[in-house]
Amino acid sequence: MVKKMRRVRTFARTATKSQEKNLIENAKKLRDDPFIILPECTEDSCKKYFIKIRKRLEKISRFKDDADKLEKLSNKKGLEGAFAGTLSLAISGKAPYLGVVKFSMGDITYAQRGKAEKEKLIAVQRFDDPILRLLGIKDLAFKKGLYVYSWNKGFVCTGVKASPPKEFIDFIANKIGFSFKNNVVFCNHVNPEKAKNKDFLKKYYLRINWKSTGMIIAICEDCAKSTKNTMFNISKYMLVPDLSDDFEVDVVAQAVKHKDPSLKHETKYLQDYLSGKLTDYDFINKNVKNQEETVKQSEEKILVLNGVSYGSDVQGFVDALKPNKYEKLALEFILEKIEEPLVVSEVNSNKILEMYWDQNGKEFICSVIDDENMADSLFNLDDTPSNILTMVFEYRNRQEILSQLPQYDSLPPLANFADNIAKTYKTFGKKKALGEIKKRLDNPKGRSLAYAFLLTFKKGEDTKWQYSKEEIEYGKFLKEYAKNLLDAKPKKYSKALQDLLTASGSDEKIM
Ligand SMILES: [Zn+2]
Repeated sequence: MVKKMRRVRTFARTATKSQEKNLIENAKKLRDDPFIILPECTEDSCKKYFIKIRKRLEKISRFKDDADKLEKLSNKKGLEGAFAGTLSLAISGKAPYLGVVKFSMGDITYAQRGKAEKEKLIAVQRFDDPILRLLGIKDLAFKKGLYVYSWNKGFVCTGVKASPPKEFIDFIANKIGFSFKNNVVFCNHVNPEKAKNKDFLKKYYLRINWKSTGMIIAICEDCAKSTKNTMFNISKYMLVPDLSDDFEVDVVAQAVKHKDPSLKHETKYLQDYLSGKLTDYDFINKNVKNQEETVKQSEEKILVLNGVSYGSDVQGFVDALKPNKYEKLALEFILEKIEEPLVVSEVNSNKILEMYWDQNGKEFICSVIDDENMADSLFNLDDTPSNILTMVFEYRNRQEILSQLPQYDSLPPLANFADNIAKTYKTFGKKKALGEIKKRLDNPKGRSLAYAFLLTFKKGEDTKWQYSKEEIEYGKFLKEYAKNLLDAKPKKYSKALQDLLTASGSDEKIM
């Protein structure tokens, strides 16, 4: 849009030969056709807006050979003054010094004559430039709410209705670059049909709906890195009362996927984009960031993992983390309690547990094991929540097994030895149980019993040399009894222990 070509500063410079030549040639053309600086009106209704200007230009044109008169007329403000000043260039045939105006699109040179505004002089002298010529009638167009389109082969005003000519539409599509099919301009990473429907795509994209033409422009986040501001690139060729009237601009992005697909994010920062403060890329990015922030600042519990929102569905969120069975229980317990949004990506279960561990870890451990001292010491271990949880559950499992087995106030030595091995095996497993076997009683009965357990753990051959022939024979006999004890269900445990003692030739009684 022309009004956005911000002027930075002006200064004079000596004209190059070609600059001077172009200016003089343009001025000569104006002698033949003063209306060349005005758009063609496609509607009778809009012609009236230009009649006054046309009459003034016509009047000035009568003095096109009168240098003195033109100099006087060039002191008028507005387009007519600029026109008079420029006509005088054609008479003098000289423009040795040029003014320069810095626009965002580059330096623009022009010959300062009379008192007309720079923009008007530029528009008149550069009437062959589709962008610059719009400067001449910008004020009128805005005042009357006119739509004016200017391209390399045309300059038309369609009155108060947006009605860009087909040729202009093609010109713009071509300027944007990218493919143009079925009225959609699109980069390679965007499916044109989906962009038409405003569907979400893998890549975020800028979508411009040029309402009066039905044209859709869709540029993905990656290609947007090199497009600067597409809306500006289009609108600089036109004058429109309000861009948003004819252009619907959106960032089609779903940084946080809702379970309900009808929930779409409203595009933000539109004014910053339309005014040229944001590039296509920044506009997309800021919207994506905004979506994420909006979720984070929400008052309610919203669980978001890797861009997928689970709302308050703790189960779904936890399953997506793929936790182990202990982490799963802890995550469910803790996440049921939180009431604020949790937005994370690229995290594992332990990371989430760490976030809430200080606040909720102890409470969870206490929900698993009754012994508060034990819960305390496990919670205070210098280890990750995940590792601590494993210890917590192993401790609880052992406690459970032990609590079901008979507990004896005092046992005779041989019975105590067998009981320790069996309970260690049931709570800690084979390796720890082998350690218990080493604490054998150093008498033939104790040694035979130890060998019997070694055989059940298939460790007989390794340790055979430590035992006498008789101990080995007796151990083989006791193996089945030892195995029965290790496998005994709680209710059969005491009997299995007693049977083992009796078989080993002991007269010890456990009950
Ligand atoms: Zn792309």
